[in-house]
Amino acid sequence: MTTKLNLLPVNEWGLDYTDRPLLISGPCSAETEEQVLETAHALKALNVSVFRAGIWKPRTRPNTFEGVGSKGLKWLSKVKQETGLKVCTEVANSKHTYEALKHNIDVLWIGARTTVNPFAVQEIADALEGVDIPVFVKNPINPDLELWIGALERLNKAGITKLGAIHRGFSSYGDSAFRNAPNWQIPIELKRRFPELLIINDPSHIGGKRDLIQSLSQKAMDLDFDGLMIEVHPNPDEAWSDAKQQITPDQFTEVLNSLKIRSKGDAQQEHSRLTGLRKKIDYFDHELMEILEARMKIANEIGEFKRDNDIIVLQNNRWNKVIEQSIALGNKKGLSPDLISKIFKAIHQESINNQTEIINKAIV
Ligand code: PEP
Ligand code: MN
Repeated sequence: MTTKLNLLPVNEWGLDYTDRPLLISGPCSAETEEQVLETAHALKALNVSVFRAGIWKPRTRPNTFEGVGSKGLKWLSKVKQETGLKVCTEVANSKHTYEALKHNIDVLWIGARTTVNPFAVQEIADALEGVDIPVFVKNPINPDLELWIGALERLNKAGITKLGAIHRGFSSYGDSAFRNAPNWQIPIELKRRFPELLIINDPSHIGGKRDLIQSLSQKAMDLDFDGLMIEVHPNPDEAWSDAKQQITPDQFTEVLNSLKIRSKGDAQQEHSRLTGLRKKIDYFDHELMEILEARMKIANEIGEFKRDNDIIVLQNNRWNKVIEQSIALGNKKGLSPDLISKIFKAIHQESINNQTEIINKAIV
């Protein structure tokens, strides 16, 4: 299903923002008035467009810090007064939304645990009817692009045109280098489907560790993200939530200074070498299709043989051999086992589907 979102370009949102990346920054949680104001003053000097702080914190387990609640909204008002920064907080239900609007919070975000729940998103959208303030929607915790789009559509239908998406990664079970796996192909597909949609990357919640923020931010910039949401705290190790991933204002400055913002390669800047290389890529893509077509034809012939000789479709030994020899060959050619295994699993799945169809056609 494709829909169109009715979106207002970010330069008409009333934010103090000129050049990519759009920066949304501040502590994971508002803890004390002093901590909030100290962070905001430090960030004011750093080209940040929106100051963030969580007031209501969705925490996985009870008996952890769940946010200071509504009193933190007054601290955010003070940030506005003292620094002129726009302020932003997370809302997870209509009560939060009304409270935030009452305190003139400029920008809202919907957290990953809320995006998964269409009832909660609809309740927030209803509370926002007629109030066209900027709203960012984080990806749902599970890697489901349609659910993410659904939440964006609900808000858009309620009249929110200053709409953005935040890519904060996806939950998975077991150990990983990341707190939330980035699955970059999901925000890339979102961008392909909605080219006008503002997409921000949140390296803090993807990485879960401060050491990963620089490389994730750089990757996001190179993948054409519009901005970054980064958690900054005056004393990260003592933070009441997400201590490992927060960075000091000085470390944030370093991240920004090291960030290389490359050109988008607009038509007029696109020089002939790039065009030539892209032609070669198109040629090889074409070759790949031809080879895939030929391979699939053979797999179908094998399907016919299995049908005629009453042999089951899946031959585990053979499949193990194919994947092993392909990974070994890929390795020699500098292609990662991860790539080879993904490609071959997809091809094998398609062959199996086709062969199952061929075998069963004979039965009926
Ligand atoms: C946050 O931004 O602090 C937060 C709770 O994020 P997420 O919804 O991405 O977990
Ligand atoms: Mn956080």
